[in-house]
Amino acid sequence: MHTSVGDFPGARCNFGVRRPRAPALRRRYGAGVSDDAIQQLQGIDAELAARLDEAVDPEKLYALQVEFLGKKGKLTAKRALMGSLEPAGKKAFGQAFNAIKAAMEGRVAGRKETLEAQARLAELSRIQDLTMLPQRGHVGSVHPITSTRRALETVFRSMGFDVLDGPHVEAEQYNFDDLNIASDHPARDMQDTFFVAPLSGGQAAADLVLRTHTSPVQVRAMLTRKPPIRIIAPGTVFRRDDDATHSPTFHQIEGLCIDEGVSMADLKATMERFVRAFFGADLAIRLRPSYFPFVEPGAEFDVVCPFCERTPGETCSVCRGSHWIELGGSGMVHPNVLRAGGIDPERYTGWAFGFGIDRMAMLLHGVSHLRLMFEGDVRFLEQFPC
Ligand SMILES: [Zn+2]
Repeated sequence: MHTSVGDFPGARCNFGVRRPRAPALRRRYGAGVSDDAIQQLQGIDAELAARLDEAVDPEKLYALQVEFLGKKGKLTAKRALMGSLEPAGKKAFGQAFNAIKAAMEGRVAGRKETLEAQARLAELSRIQDLTMLPQRGHVGSVHPITSTRRALETVFRSMGFDVLDGPHVEAEQYNFDDLNIASDHPARDMQDTFFVAPLSGGQAAADLVLRTHTSPVQVRAMLTRKPPIRIIAPGTVFRRDDDATHSPTFHQIEGLCIDEGVSMADLKATMERFVRAFFGADLAIRLRPSYFPFVEPGAEFDVVCPFCERTPGETCSVCRGSHWIELGGSGMVHPNVLRAGGIDPERYTGWAFGFGIDRMAMLLHGVSHLRLMFEGDVRFLEQFPC
């Protein structure tokens, strides 16, 4: 069975603005009032009420006020209705007109208050940053050795190497013995070492040295990590050298890679990739056989001089005309070193390299004397802005 809209009582009701019926109007405004005229006034009031939300600022509210309550406004125009009314109805209409006008003015005033309150709130919640920052220029800069070390770290990190650090005061065993340099090994003479004097009454410090190279970090890495191991260890090292080309404090970077089946080919490929990334050019490299106690075989690691082109026709001051620059030593990790680090040399092989960061920084920035790097002369350092 279908039901139609008409089946429900009140279905035809107008759900719009409810207007008072004529008896109610008469009660409110007195007898004799014209129902139609009053309803017209109420219609205008209802329209204003419905449109108040349009007034989102004082200007729009004023426009609305003029449209309804101004001299030529919608309500004012209805005053003319009075002329067509019986004398008895005129008074009632006048009262009704004034009452509705007052109500409409009240609506406008209410809206004005709301807008003012909103504006006040917006003003109060406005955030104004009154901080005055000092207009100072940058002070200081990164030391060229630090920036060079960071550049080296970035290159090796991109190849999957971890960056490790080690103590400056190192156990003699890690600095020498475990690196295949026993106490009677002649290689100890190559490194004029700062031994740390024992504490008075104590003996524990007797086997401590200021590390002469970053290689002890190799031993520390092998003792704390399991292969595959890929690390670099940049840092400060100390030797009893002090002349035009040597400083008692200088900086090295150590590289170590241990895994199954690692060979010199991997070392050379890694060095080639490093040189390309660091110098930004495909420079040739070469490995010259050499001796270092902790590698077998060992090799000096040279790169073609990238600075020869700067002074065509003249002897290059960087490589002194040899066209090659020695960067450091390298080779396959000696089985004794692997054993000292707790790694089975029958299963694993590894390569290592070490070169001077200071020399790299001098090459990069064309610095002629190592000492300039450590004297702390501001005239020198301010040439390397951040
Ligand atoms: Zn050169």
